[in-house]
Amino acid sequence: MTDASLPEQVTFVIIGSGFSGLGAAIRLQQAGHRDMIILERAGDVGGTWRDNTYPGCRCDVQSNLYSYSFALKPDWSESYPSQPELWEYLRQIASRHGLARYLRFGHDVTAARWDEEAGRWLISTTKGQFAARYLIAGVGALVEPSLPDIPRIETFAGTIMHSARWDGGWRPEGRRVAVVGTGASAIQIVPSIQPAVEHLTVFQRTAPFVVPHNNHPVKPRTKVLYRALPPAQRANRLAVYWMRELLAYGFVRNPKILKRAEAVWRKHMHSAITDEATRSQLTPTYDLGCKRVLPSNDFYPALARANVSLVTEKIIEFRPDGVVTADGAEHKVDTVILATGFHVTDNPMFGKVAGRGGRTLAEAFGQTYLGTVVPGFPNYFQLTGANTGLGHSSMLLMIESQLNLIVDAIEQVEAAGGGPCEVRTDVAAGYNARLQRRLPTTVWGSGCSSWYLDSQGRNLTIWPGFTFSFRRRTRRFEPADFTIG
Ligand code: NAP
Repeated sequence: MTDASLPEQVTFVIIGSGFSGLGAAIRLQQAGHRDMIILERAGDVGGTWRDNTYPGCRCDVQSNLYSYSFALKPDWSESYPSQPELWEYLRQIASRHGLARYLRFGHDVTAARWDEEAGRWLISTTKGQFAARYLIAGVGALVEPSLPDIPRIETFAGTIMHSARWDGGWRPEGRRVAVVGTGASAIQIVPSIQPAVEHLTVFQRTAPFVVPHNNHPVKPRTKVLYRALPPAQRANRLAVYWMRELLAYGFVRNPKILKRAEAVWRKHMHSAITDEATRSQLTPTYDLGCKRVLPSNDFYPALARANVSLVTEKIIEFRPDGVVTADGAEHKVDTVILATGFHVTDNPMFGKVAGRGGRTLAEAFGQTYLGTVVPGFPNYFQLTGANTGLGHSSMLLMIESQLNLIVDAIEQVEAAGGGPCEVRTDVAAGYNARLQRRLPTTVWGSGCSSWYLDSQGRNLTIWPGFTFSFRRRTRRFEPADFTIG
């Protein structure tokens, strides 16, 4: 008989079942581990690709690269994957790898703390407690909606929703809609709903660089080829990979070469927008690449339609039936779509995980080593942690690199008696000091404000380099950088 008041004992607890959590479970299983539990607060796997159901949601990295190297999908229907297809891909890999036995849905993690005496992590969830020797957080970076702090927003009487909390029952027909923000989510939502709405007002705070998109259906004969000859798909993946690494050269080493991309952007924008005043509103005042470059063929044309207004005045307050801007204008709307991004550097999860001495990840923020381990957090690993974000390529490249490090670390720590294992403070400090010296010399340090920066202006989001350099750094667990025992 088991005592329900005692935590369930397990070797590994993984939090989250998006790309990170599922990838961790698959790699652990491949390394021969079975004693694990995946805690998922929702009722299905999929993470961000389950949650972002807004119309037009699509990844801006090619399907062949935005998929696991150990789970290529030969029959992507389009060259850039749509949200429904990506979500289905994640469900398929969970099923194909038999992960159902590890998954605990509806388990929202409320706290996790390192129990010094027992040498274990104690994890509390809304449905019970767990004790694990290793804790792996795959909680994602773009998860917690960031809602704008605009006066009287709570008084708005119509429909108001964040892009990542889309109301599937809402219909755009005949609506007067405000979209707040012009980031990656907004530029996909705007052209998707524009044809149906009565009127759309787009509130832009900072102009993005929107460049041509080359998404297209994958030809049936290409799918047949990829299925029959996987190396052909790998060759395409490699070509896409190197094309994108070239971009990193511009972002990191030589931002001047991005001037050519700026010319492409200008032509793209000018071909859709003829009005000079609107062109000037849509012209960014920072270097291309400093904020994420956004691909879309239909965003600028949508802005040019008669039922769309672009407003660059600051929103100063909400009213029950509209939005008021700094110039005193009142914009009457019945729906507000907040495409205002996520809590990236201040994810609430960071306050819930406490390491040695009760110090939380929020307090240790900025001390992560290789985005994966943190001093004072023994036997703890995280995916897509600090400075693993990319402006130029697929996050899955980074996640797979981190998984290489984690699996190797666990193998070596187990061989050495099980730990606990903790990265040395001086190693993490030296690493972060080098990153923070380097970042200001890249395009992300060229002077724009972006969600890559925290409240103190530090860039704790982006990996300032090529993905192959990160792959090299994470290829092997280096015992000398850690204390084990
Ligand atoms: P985002 O890039 O952070 O964009 C948020 C937008 O809202 C920005 O235009 C921002 O303006 C604006 N904003 C924020 N607070 C505001 C306020 N108080 N008043 C007015 N405007 C405000 O968020 P996102 O579009 O959801 O995208 C987040 C990230 O998710 C992307 O960078 C990307 O990594 C990922 N994503 C990817 C895809 C894809 O693959 N296609 C799609 C969606 C999301 P400022 O620029 O002035 O801050």
